[in-house]
Amino acid sequence: MTRLKKFSNFFHSLKFRLILLFILLGFIPAVILRIGILKSYEDRAVSIKSSEILSQAKILANQIVASDYLSNVDTSDIINAELEQLSNVYDGRVMIIDNSFHIVKDTYNLDEQKTIISQEVIESYHGQEISKYDSQNRYIEMTIPLTDVNDTDKTVVGVMLMSVSTDNVELNLGYLRNNAFVIEMICGFIIIFFSVIVATRLVKPLHHMSKSIEEIQTGYGDDSLAINDYTETIQICEKFNEMLGRMKVLDDSRQEFVSNVSHELKTPLTSMKVLADSLNSMEDVPNELYKEFMEDIGNEIERETKIINDLLSLVKMDKSAADLNVTNVNVNELLEQIMKRLRPIADKQKVELVLESFRPVTADVDEVKITLAFTNLIENAIKYNHEGGWVHVSLNADHQYLYLKVEDSGMGIPEESLEHIYERFYRVDKSHSREIGGTGLGLAITRNAILMHRGAIKVFSTEGEGTIFNVRIPLNYIS
Ligand code: ADP
Repeated sequence: MTRLKKFSNFFHSLKFRLILLFILLGFIPAVILRIGILKSYEDRAVSIKSSEILSQAKILANQIVASDYLSNVDTSDIINAELEQLSNVYDGRVMIIDNSFHIVKDTYNLDEQKTIISQEVIESYHGQEISKYDSQNRYIEMTIPLTDVNDTDKTVVGVMLMSVSTDNVELNLGYLRNNAFVIEMICGFIIIFFSVIVATRLVKPLHHMSKSIEEIQTGYGDDSLAINDYTETIQICEKFNEMLGRMKVLDDSRQEFVSNVSHELKTPLTSMKVLADSLNSMEDVPNELYKEFMEDIGNEIERETKIINDLLSLVKMDKSAADLNVTNVNVNELLEQIMKRLRPIADKQKVELVLESFRPVTADVDEVKITLAFTNLIENAIKYNHEGGWVHVSLNADHQYLYLKVEDSGMGIPEESLEHIYERFYRVDKSHSREIGGTGLGLAITRNAILMHRGAIKVFSTEGEGTIFNVRIPLNYIS
């Protein structure tokens, strides 16, 4: 096996799929857990920081309003110092904006006296406290309205704007991320390790199974499969053993058939050899004896030809139903032709042959095969009959099937033989059948032909009284 093929086999194997499944089942929850925990931590850290700063800022905002800071920015040293402190403690920038949007104080001393008009500032002038977290640039921005607490109208005299860095939150997040990555890697290795072990164990019974099948195939090991690890393997083994049993039966019957065929084909040849040898061993053979022996040899050749022809018919019948050459056939006419052909044999045996057609019947059938089947049945009824006996053939039909009944007053079939008569080369009385030219293949051919048409055949017989064969064939061929 090439390396490429080995790789491809592995990627298509159940083991690889199981490993992949276990890894995904292990990794996906781990990744979701990590993302979820880090996000919750970030939200919580930002929210704690925001509310802490907000409470500090509010105290300062009250002081700013109370001390009328907006009118005395330069002289309010205490407030300025507190603003600087707030800015330093939280690593941020604080700006105080008056009601004409001028920045009166900027702890970074960058934008004083400049005008600032932003959505948040405007909203705060309407009395709202706004807190916004920008995770990309890592800062929290807050705007707090400066409201005179003593004023009943709660007039907003200015806005305090703070932007505070969240670098420390990001620092902690980075640390947690690194830890999570290390834990994830360790878990990953453990998951991969156990996935390989578990997947290998899970598919082991399947490997056992294929090995056992291989052993059965090569003829070594047990002659049945037993892998009892899973319900599924037990079921597969049961089905496999059933199939094996059926194959053995088939093989036995094939072997029996081959030995029967050889035996049947050998018998006429042996007779011919005996006849020829005895002629050769005699000196001055009279002409009459020569003629008689040659006639016997001719009969044996005829018999050999009949067996070969029957075998060929049987082989044709063994093929699939697709080989049927279905045409619309007038069955009444077909039966009349068969009767015409068989009448001389019946007359010779002094057997009365009667055909009764209840209605005109046409059916979609393979004419050659159905002719063979019907001929065999009627010929048997004549062959296995007594002198002065009768054979009644009747044809009937309904909207679905045609029904053929072949009834005779012959010798009948013993009950114990009834289940064997369709077997190849089976004959109730071998020597009698041989005498009257039977091969033991006629009914096997008949039954196969009928089954190919999805029909049915039934036999009723009483020894010494006679036999009835009932045949049913669908009028329209069902493929
Ligand atoms: P064969 O070529 O010997 O007739 P078949 O397969 O046609 O072989 O029939 C098998 C055996 O069934 C026959 O040998 C015969 O013993 C028995 N059989 C078939 N048809 C009849 C019948 N109508 N009456 C009595 N026995 C029959």
